[in-house]
Amino acid sequence: MTGDSGRVWNWLERDLEALARQDRLRNTRRTSGTGTHILLDGIRVLNLCSNDYLGLTRHPDVVAAALEATKEHGTGTASSRLIAGTNPLHEAFEATIAKHKQADSALVFGSGTLANLGAIPALAGQGDLILSDALNHASIVDGCRMSRATVEVYPHKDHEAVVQRLEAAEGQHRRILVVTDGLFSMDGDLADLGGLRAACRENGAMLYVDDAHATGVLGTGGRGSFEHLDVSPEGCIQMGTMSKALGSEGGFVAGPAPLRDVLLNRARPFIFSTAPSPATMAAAAAALAVVGREPERRRRLLTNADLLRRALADLGLSVPAGVGPILPVILGSEQAAMRTMHDLLEQGIYAAAIRPPTVPPGACRIRLTVQSGHDSEELEAAAHTIAKAASAADGKAPRGASVAAAQTTSRATTPTTQGGP
Ligand SMILES: *Cc1c(COP(=O)(O)O)cnc(C)c1O
Repeated sequence: MTGDSGRVWNWLERDLEALARQDRLRNTRRTSGTGTHILLDGIRVLNLCSNDYLGLTRHPDVVAAALEATKEHGTGTASSRLIAGTNPLHEAFEATIAKHKQADSALVFGSGTLANLGAIPALAGQGDLILSDALNHASIVDGCRMSRATVEVYPHKDHEAVVQRLEAAEGQHRRILVVTDGLFSMDGDLADLGGLRAACRENGAMLYVDDAHATGVLGTGGRGSFEHLDVSPEGCIQMGTMSKALGSEGGFVAGPAPLRDVLLNRARPFIFSTAPSPATMAAAAAALAVVGREPERRRRLLTNADLLRRALADLGLSVPAGVGPILPVILGSEQAAMRTMHDLLEQGIYAAAIRPPTVPPGACRIRLTVQSGHDSEELEAAAHTIAKAASAADGKAPRGASVAAAQTTSRATTPTTQGGP
């Protein structure tokens, strides 16, 4: 652009430069596949970044179901669910996922993010109170903002703080919603669902649990955090996604019988968005069937996660206690996290550096996710490589970053300032 019409956009470059100066510039990377090994910018790496925990994006039954559905129903739905977009696959999946979650009804959204942006404002609005865990997923934070309810953030997993707040708030709000991740997406630890559920019951509050990462993964039947903790989900709302262990995409919200109809009347990201594709729904349904049929995938995943968690801790790394496939290695600064990621890449390991605003300043980390298909010896070896890279990054001075470097999408493994989410 030239002349005056271009000047109005000068701030775009300045904005990117500001991010680069803070080591917070992000970019996409060219990857192929979702498996235990992928090509990253053309180079084969061990993939410790995928949420395809059970390897279901490539499961023959899941792939076949998506192809079948496409042949029968076409590639797209061409309408919102409320006009002409609902086909039998949507309703069948909703019934199945509701049953799987031991809920009375469920509604599917185009993504997990849309589910939170839609459901939270449908459940709480002006005059209501939302209590939200400090480490909740960004889509919960945004859903809370969009609700126009009074939002109070409580310290991470501080069930006592919730109890106190609920007791103090008695009679002052139309409705109260307590919202939490089940398995926290950046820390890999579990909410105290038993305590929260009891507190909500006692004080007439609603409990909403985002179980994106535990769905298909935790519990003997793969039903999620409630099952793992042996807490009944009855009377609670369970949100989840088909985009992680279920190898597809989309989100759902499950709960009491009238919930589905309330959401489909009130949740704007449901009402004003095109229905998910037939392939998406069929893949998710097939994946859910595999979750039930092949529990050994879940067992292997958890064995792998335990192995890596223990190996990293034995090597002296700061890995918070947790359960399941998400393992953060806390490093502190942006520079330490970025440098570790770059060093690992050079050694053929892809692990995402996570920086603010995804995590609080000073809590930058490498976030590892394991898969059921990972080889245990390879994970052991990776732990040693990670420990070395992390300790090397610790003592070194920050490396300068430039916008130009970060914008390159060359095939080189040369470190750039690209990062994870
Ligand atoms: C991934 C994730 C989401 C968003 O799901 P998408 O299907 O990727 O939009 C929501 N909540 C949590 C806790 C997540 O980890």
